[in-house]
Amino acid sequence: MQFEFLKRDNAARNGRLVLSHGTVETPVFMPVGTNGAVKMCMHDCVKRAGAQIVLANAFHLYIRPGLDVISSFGGLHEFASWDIPILTDSGGYQIFSLSKHVKVDDDGVTFKAPLDGTTHRFTPEKVMEIQQVIGSDIAMVLDECLAPGNDRKTTEISLKRTTDWAKRSLKSHVRNDQALFGITQGGFFKETRMISTREITSMPFDGFAIGGLSVGEDLKTTLKMLDVIMSLMPEDKPRYLMGVGDPLLMLEAVERGVDMMDCVLPTRMARHGAVYTSHGKLNIRASVYAFDKSPLDPECTCEVCQNYSRGYIHHLIKRKEATGMMLATYHNMYFLHDLMRKARKAIHERSFSTFKRDFLNDINALPKE
Ligand SMILES: [Zn+2]
Repeated sequence: MQFEFLKRDNAARNGRLVLSHGTVETPVFMPVGTNGAVKMCMHDCVKRAGAQIVLANAFHLYIRPGLDVISSFGGLHEFASWDIPILTDSGGYQIFSLSKHVKVDDDGVTFKAPLDGTTHRFTPEKVMEIQQVIGSDIAMVLDECLAPGNDRKTTEISLKRTTDWAKRSLKSHVRNDQALFGITQGGFFKETRMISTREITSMPFDGFAIGGLSVGEDLKTTLKMLDVIMSLMPEDKPRYLMGVGDPLLMLEAVERGVDMMDCVLPTRMARHGAVYTSHGKLNIRASVYAFDKSPLDPECTCEVCQNYSRGYIHHLIKRKEATGMMLATYHNMYFLHDLMRKARKAIHERSFSTFKRDFLNDINALPKE
């Protein structure tokens, strides 16, 4: 993996990430294809919407179809016929969100798979093995994801475990055509965030992710933590803010030097009729759109907005037609890729703060997570 800067505008960075299956221009949004496919969007649509890299989930793929199937095809790229870079999330976040069915100790985590009730044991080494079989371009370490609201003592114990697991992950990762990212944690205390960021970034990872943010806290808290973390991040490695797909927060993150983001929300929202527009989010299911002949977003240049009316998509989504969900999904993905494309251009022209201000002025109703 190589990472180089093309331009900077204060802390915001426009960079280029060279991976085994292609080159990614940053800042970048990564759509989520948990099971090896972005829901309601065929691969060519995912790419046409502007995706340069997709995310898949090692935990879900390990449960189904299983490593024996994926390895018999020669890896996830071959199995799913993906020809662009793939990042695999370790599944830590999903496992720890099973709460009642999770037992964690210093060596690893035991959990019951929600799909079939079978019991599994994940250690940092096991998670490396899984992702090396999957063959993603970027693998993520196993980290402990704390639920918000934990006290300082619990947070300290947890971040120590995450640091230990990061060391073990580095030792057991051997694929040199696969980049490996460490994940910083540390809850919602400035000091614990600083400890975790310092410990994780002192290790020779290819890039660094920020975990455990945007998990239900308010925007002010997210930005306060982000400021602390970003001030300690190495300049020469890519920085990945996990689980963020809100346009406003994406721009705040880019302004602070974040290079990569992912979120399941834009595609999940679309399936329920919630779409991004240049003037905030709208819910196309509302009856006010039944006779509306305008596109989802009059300022959007995507092929859905060039060809279909709000009235038609309103009808399809109300009738639970897959085509309606597909059209809304395509638009939402295009909207975020287009936002990042404009952000890259603005950084290149050193006009990011003006671009951000204009975008915020246009938006009067922000998407809520
Ligand atoms: Zn559109």
